[in-house]
Amino acid sequence: MKVLITGGYGFIGSTVAERFHKEGYDVYIIDNMSSGSKKNINFKHKGYVLSVEDTKCEEVFRSNRFDAVIHLAAQVSVSVSLKNPYQDAQSNVLGLSNMLSLSSRYGARKFIFASSAAVYGLTEEVPILETSPFGPISPYGMNKMVGETYCSNWKEMYGLDTLCFRFSNVYGPRQGNSGEGGVVSIFMKQILENQEITVHGDGNQTRDFIYVEDIADALFRASYSSLDGVYNLSTCQENSINDLIRELQQLQGDAALIKYVPSREGDIYRSTLDNGRIMHALDWAPKYTLQSGLRKMYTWASEVKETKPVVKPIEEKPSMIRQKLKTALPYAENLLAFSAVYGLNEILERSDYAGMDFKLVYITIIGILYGSRQSMLAVLLSILLFIRQQTENGRDIVSLLYDSTLFFQLALYLFVGLVVGYSIERRTNRLNNAEQQLQQASDKYAFLYEVYEETRSVKDELHQQIITTEDSFGKIHTVTRELESLEPERIFLAAIGVLEKIMQTDQVTIYTVNKTKSYLRLAGCSAVDTLEFPRSLKADQHEYLMSLLYDKQLYVNKELNLEFPLLSAPVVSRGEVVAIVSLHAVEFYRFTLYYQNLFKTVVELISSSLSRAHTYIDAAASQRYVDPEEGRVLQTEAFMEILASKQAASEQFGVNYVLLPTGLKNVTSEIIERIHGSLRETDYLGMSADGELLMLLSNSTQSDVEHIVRRLRGQSVFLHLEEEPKYA
Ligand code: UDP
Repeated sequence: MKVLITGGYGFIGSTVAERFHKEGYDVYIIDNMSSGSKKNINFKHKGYVLSVEDTKCEEVFRSNRFDAVIHLAAQVSVSVSLKNPYQDAQSNVLGLSNMLSLSSRYGARKFIFASSAAVYGLTEEVPILETSPFGPISPYGMNKMVGETYCSNWKEMYGLDTLCFRFSNVYGPRQGNSGEGGVVSIFMKQILENQEITVHGDGNQTRDFIYVEDIADALFRASYSSLDGVYNLSTCQENSINDLIRELQQLQGDAALIKYVPSREGDIYRSTLDNGRIMHALDWAPKYTLQSGLRKMYTWASEVKETKPVVKPIEEKPSMIRQKLKTALPYAENLLAFSAVYGLNEILERSDYAGMDFKLVYITIIGILYGSRQSMLAVLLSILLFIRQQTENGRDIVSLLYDSTLFFQLALYLFVGLVVGYSIERRTNRLNNAEQQLQQASDKYAFLYEVYEETRSVKDELHQQIITTEDSFGKIHTVTRELESLEPERIFLAAIGVLEKIMQTDQVTIYTVNKTKSYLRLAGCSAVDTLEFPRSLKADQHEYLMSLLYDKQLYVNKELNLEFPLLSAPVVSRGEVVAIVSLHAVEFYRFTLYYQNLFKTVVELISSSLSRAHTYIDAAASQRYVDPEEGRVLQTEAFMEILASKQAASEQFGVNYVLLPTGLKNVTSEIIERIHGSLRETDYLGMSADGELLMLLSNSTQSDVEHIVRRLRGQSVFLHLEEEPKYA
């Protein structure tokens, strides 16, 4: 079972993740680490550092099918939502809609959304029922309200099973206390550090404080329930801020310093959520009182305080210093270059080169090096220098204003500065953009590669499990591939090995059935030294055989009668029973209903392989037989294939056969008819490469050969037995 928890590194998310992990789920997390920390999770899981609105999240869904998606990732601060509604909507609306659409597209079974009591706003009613009207007073509350609508519509539109919980005030270990955390974590920190507690208002305002493990419990139960719609998730207990301080003081054993300041704007005075519906629907109840929950949180917070390293005064990080230097460097270099120009002017003023204007060179170089901002500064400095030079030559500033040369000079500086600066800046911007795009592409590639690697390793793991798990489909599939032959003899041979491996027994037999179903002939058996299976069976002498042949049902030796096999099943090819497969010994503890079903399945696989082979033989009669119409004499290739199977069966299982070269060539159809009529259905006639008629007698010995020779002689067919028969 797989669960995806968005915001899983946060304080609620990590507690929920822990619960699912303990219940045996594979936990996946999407978190952008804006407030969470990887340290919050210390068990095996898969985490992706992504924002929920990021399109890359699709890769996470594409490679996993989640049984539940618990959507906790959100912008959680009401004050941030007021200052930056765009940011709130980005996470709480776009993020949610992204998760919803991916969940429905990739078949998540359940989607649970963490809504909030903020959707009710300033209602006077306590406890607040789910039926109370909406009245959000912040973008945060508004977006949660929109989120609930999204969830219910997604169920209508795409059939995604959605459920929304309006959390009351959640508290517990790992809760942030940076000032944006809830009042419990803020006070807990202040009490532990003997700081003054600031109460907004008179402290008689109430809240419904719920311990985070109770939240995790409800979410877990809901994840496999059929519940949908919107529910309050709360304790329905009203505690004031002053009650909270009292409880904390008791834990600490000291009186805290309390400062009362004016109420926060828009603060709700009384708030508690009715939880009757969820308690009934989920058979859930909060286990923690405010006292017991705070005690657990206090123990955690005290431990964290003890292990916390001493915080050193914040030193400016080297990277920040480097950043500042980087910003200041162009100005410094610009001023340096200007000083050089100034110095040069001073030196050359009274020389032959007095007319040379290095300012243009200076503006151009600075523009090329640093772009428009520095080139404009260079223009400004050059103009000032120019004016200074003019006034030094005895001209007053007012007269300069009427001098067109001055304006021409200024325009020239400005023009060069602008053209060089902006064209260089454009080029730099283009380069930066390309670099940024490259960076984004390589980030995306790295992410996709990570997902790909992970998917591949999961696939390999699964593949390995399938192959190695006993009786898994994978194993059965791998083993039964040996049955993929188009030659019935090969299939019989392979069937013995397949049955031995899958059924874990070393006593398997296969008897082929003659056309009239009167007798059966041993086609193959396990090589057991101590046992000798009869070479043929008369059907009417064994009741169990009759039912197998005629009812085509599985035979189970429930009486454990030693004369019969333990399990037998008919091999059916194209509706006819062509063979009977039996298991003669099975370890007792294996002899279960499951084992019987497995046996039936494997025999059905053998049957289907055989049907396929027979269909092939019919279709390929012209290539298989010398006389395709009658189908009595096999072509050399087909005959040799069967002979090879017989040899293998003899080597593996000790099943005898005889290859009898008849010494007859160019035999008439009438003689062939006579010879064919004298053979059993399990024997074969074939043509050798040099045109000699060959006989292959299944499961036979020398006495069978003598018997056949005698029988043929009685029908005036005389074999020329010049070559010795080959016995195996
Ligand atoms: N509160 C307080 N001092 C603080 C933080 C909060 O008195 O340092 C009050 C706050 O004014 C509010 C109550 O505690 O009345 C709960 O505040 P919180 O932000 O935890 O939850 P919310 O108001 O969103 O339910």
